[in-house]
Formats: sequence, C-alpha cells, structure tokens
Amino acid sequence: MEKRCSFCGRMESPQLPVIEGASALICKECAETCVEEMQTPLNMPSKQGLKPHEIKEELDRFVIGQDEAKKLLSVAVYNHYKRITTKTKVDIQKSNIMIVGPTGSGKTYLLETLSQILDVPLVIADATSLTQAGYVGDDVETILEKLIIKAGGDVHKAEQGIVYIDEIDKIASYEVDGRKRTKDIAGQAVQESLLKMIEGNEVHLQMGNQRQTKQRVILNTKNILFIFGGAFVGLQDILQSRTKGVKKTVGFTTPAILKDEKQDQELSQQDLVSYGFIPEFIGRIPVIAVLNPLRKEDLMNILVKPKNAVLKQYQALLQMDGVKLSFHNKAVEHIAEEAMKKNVGARGLKGIVEKRMYDLMYSLPQKEEIKSLTITKEMLMGDVPMIPVEKKIAG
Ligand code: ADP
Repeated sequence: MEKRCSFCGRMESPQLPVIEGASALICKECAETCVEEMQTPLNMPSKQGLKPHEIKEELDRFVIGQDEAKKLLSVAVYNHYKRITTKTKVDIQKSNIMIVGPTGSGKTYLLETLSQILDVPLVIADATSLTQAGYVGDDVETILEKLIIKAGGDVHKAEQGIVYIDEIDKIASYEVDGRKRTKDIAGQAVQESLLKMIEGNEVHLQMGNQRQTKQRVILNTKNILFIFGGAFVGLQDILQSRTKGVKKTVGFTTPAILKDEKQDQELSQQDLVSYGFIPEFIGRIPVIAVLNPLRKEDLMNILVKPKNAVLKQYQALLQMDGVKLSFHNKAVEHIAEEAMKKNVGARGLKGIVEKRMYDLMYSLPQKEEIKSLTITKEMLMGDVPMIPVEKKIAG
C-alpha cells in the first residue's frame, strides 16, 4: 500500500522514506525539520538567540563609543533571555540593569537600539511621572499596560519585553552640598511599588480606554527585563568620600577625568543605596553600566558614522534633488564643539545644524545648476553664504 506523509503529502520513495506512527505518517525530511524546530528553545524569537558579541556588533552600527557599557548590556541581555528559555536546577537571578550616565550620552538610544535588535517590545517611562497608586500621575501599572500595547496586545510577548525607566535618580534622596535633602517619602513609595513589579509578580490590569469595555488581563513580570537610567548628579561625591584618596574612576561629571580608564570599576550597589535608594530595590538590580560623557571625537563620529547619522540624513535628502552634499571636517568639528559648549551630549547635535540646513534646503531646489556642495565651518557660522553667490559676468 502506498504511504503518504501526513505533513507534506508527498508519497514514499527510495529517497524519501516514510515512517508510520500510531495515527500519522511522516517522511524523513519533515521529521528532520521537526527535530530542528524542537532544538530551537520554545518561545524564543530567533533574534533573542544572538550571542553577546553579535549583540555588541549590532549596537556598534548605531551607538558610538560606550564600549564597556555595550559589552555589559550585551552579556546581561544574553543571560536574561537564556535564563528565560532554558531550564536549569540553579535559580539564576534576573539581570536587571542600572545605566548611569550624563544626559545625551546614549542611555535611551542604547535601549531603543537593543529592543530593535532583539525584536522585543520596549516601553520607556520617566520615573518623575510615576506616583504611588491612587495619586495623580502614572502608577507603575500604567507602564505594564503600555508594554502590552507595544506588544500588539500579545501578553506573552509583553512578558518577555523590556521596561526602561529613565530619571530614576530623581526618586532617591541624597545629599547636595553637604545638606541632606528632606527624605522623599513619595519617592520611596514609588521605589517600593517598582520593587514589587521587578521582583516578579502577577499583576492584574484593566486594559482598554473609556470607550471600550475594560478587559481584565493578568501579566507576569517575572521575565520582563527592567532597566533603569539616570544622570546621578552628586554620585561622584559619594564615591569620593568612600574611596578617600583613591583616584576618581567614575567619569560622568567631568570629561577631563576620562581618558581610557575603566569608568565603572568602583561604582557599587552600596553607592546607589547611599545615594538614597532602598537596599531591597537596588538588590534587584545587579548590573551597573556606566556611560561616559561623549568626547568631541565621539560627537564627530556620531554626526557621520552611524547608519542613520544626522549628516547622512541631510545628504540623503539633498541627493533626492540631485545634489551631492559633503561636509568639510572643520564643519563637523565645529558642530561637535558647539554641542560640547551646550553640555547636552549628542542631544544637541541636530539642533545646531538644523537651522542652517533648513535655509539651504529651502533655496537649493531652485538652483538646478548646483550639482554638488561642500559645507564649511564658515558657512555654518554664517560668515559666508551657504550657496555661492553667482558672479556677474562682466560685459
Ligand atoms: P540620554 O543618555 O539622555 O538618554 P539619548 O539616548 O536620549 O540620551 O540621546 C539623545 C540622542 O543623541 C539619541 O537619540 C541619539 O540620536 C544621539 N546619541 C546619544 N548618544 C549617542 C551615541 N553614543 N551614539 C550615537 N548617537 C547617540
């Protein structure tokens, strides 16, 4: 009797043996495919299987510098997803992460890039907008509702997502200029509600807006990766008082102490507790990554190197008008220097060129004869016009 594979429907042949099961038949090829599928850990999107060096390489395409932090994040994220998808007898602690770094150094950008690389939903929230349940503002559960929305309503996907809470330093109490700030009771309450969430809990949520009937959803936060970020102004003083006489190693306040030192050697969970966090909360955040202030060279690289670099975007826009745009190195340096003066990291870069470039993009499409243009420092400073003035031909 002829045998047909119940999966692909093909008939048995000498090249394609078919095995008979209790209620179905399977050919050699389909059996092999099944074995491959079974070997991929269940529920693990293939991108989450990237090795740490592959995650770092992907991050390198977008995020300039911050090598140590990128390595640390790559390992933490790799371990996190390995922990979720592989069963072990040892209880592996969740790798929630604290990112300490000045404004505009790439904290949020790193996370956004990471969530795209891993293809997991990401929610970015601001600790300053969080309040205790029952008070005006967002309570921590709102974050989880947003995560489900980001996951397209797929609760299982949301349960493996990433939550990034920025400005976490603002809900701590710490000493400024030797004066103890009054204890921030509300901040502590928010820390406690965050603690419940990151510990791994089943949270009951009411999804849907006022117009829809609310739907009860239960979300388990056990496998959600929580990442916190902040500039931690004043943390330097805590470190200095602890490591009296020891050379400074955390460089997020003054670029001058940067060089190639390892920045994060000294920063410990205890320092964050001294900064004003409850120990139970910090105890749940075992990984601390430190981002350095970006140097002039980093800012120059950010302008030109990443796949979606700011200057590349202008070049792409003008190419659509048939104009080959380039930037003189001194012009790039000038933009970076202006951003350094503003002390806002890479955040300020686009704003510095934007106005001048808009003038250019307004006028250039009417000058069809211009096929290429190099932007110089003098043009950006307004000393010479962006578009060369036509010379009148004598006679
Ligand atoms: P913050 O550290 O304050 O969270 P962001 O990550 O929001 O800073 O950075 C602001 C913007 O600056 C980002 O959207 C990104 O375009 C750019 N940027 C910041 N740091 C880097 C970096 N290291 N490499 C490339 N771009 C960066």
